[in-house]
Amino acid sequence: MSTPTLLGVPFDAASSFRRGAAAAPGAIRAALRSPAGNSWTEGMLDLDAPGVLADAGDVARLEPQTALARIEQAVGKLVASGARPIVLGGDHSITYPALRGLRPSHQQLSVLHIDAHPDLYEEFEGDRFSHACPFARVLEERLTDELVQAGIRTMTGQQRAQADRFEVDVIDMDAWTEGRRPRPTYPVYLSIDLDGFDPAHCPGVSHPEPGGITVRDFLSMLHRLEVPVVGADIVELNPQVDPAGLTARVAAKLVKEIVGQMHRFAVS
Ligand code: MN
Ligand code: MN
Repeated sequence: MSTPTLLGVPFDAASSFRRGAAAAPGAIRAALRSPAGNSWTEGMLDLDAPGVLADAGDVARLEPQTALARIEQAVGKLVASGARPIVLGGDHSITYPALRGLRPSHQQLSVLHIDAHPDLYEEFEGDRFSHACPFARVLEERLTDELVQAGIRTMTGQQRAQADRFEVDVIDMDAWTEGRRPRPTYPVYLSIDLDGFDPAHCPGVSHPEPGGITVRDFLSMLHRLEVPVVGADIVELNPQVDPAGLTARVAAKLVKEIVGQMHRFAVS
């Protein structure tokens, strides 16, 4: 059974500006189970039916010195058991250890990264494992065969050079608005930084950046993916700056529709 399985990673010690994302897994689970909604996806799958969605709980004892290893181990264990992880961050630093855990089970892998920011810095304020750096580490270690980024609207010179060096397919917001959409080649891991969405949709993030994608445009793209989704993470929700809980609701909606998409394809 390659059951989609939630894994909470309450870790935000690699945030460069404002912490708070460690409280996100609980907020996303609460939104997912809120009686304000129901358990059905838009494609008519009931998340409460047997075998549709499991929950492995949170990774415990995430201290900065050992967090990377513990996250990698937890994701690796899930994937080795045949599950498809949906990792609830946490800040974006968790994607690097998550992909280290996932990669050994997938000979061919695409990563589709939604974000306002490229997160390609070699290091940020002296930290190579900052939430501004995960995709530099992922590409150096060849943890993916292809990286496609969408939603990008804060490119810098250093990160542009990194994107060129590693042949990253960057779909910036102008390209997205003109209709360009990601077409991953291989089974795909989705890494979704909620600040990739417009702050009108996802205000509850630590680095809001105007001019982003809409939830609807993302879902329409997700529903049209023609490769299996083998794993995902949803990161950077900061419940401290999400007073109406709207961003948590978007995160829960993404969980639902990712689960629905996972069930459309058997895992290769
Ligand atoms: Mn990010
Ligand atoms: Mn971001």
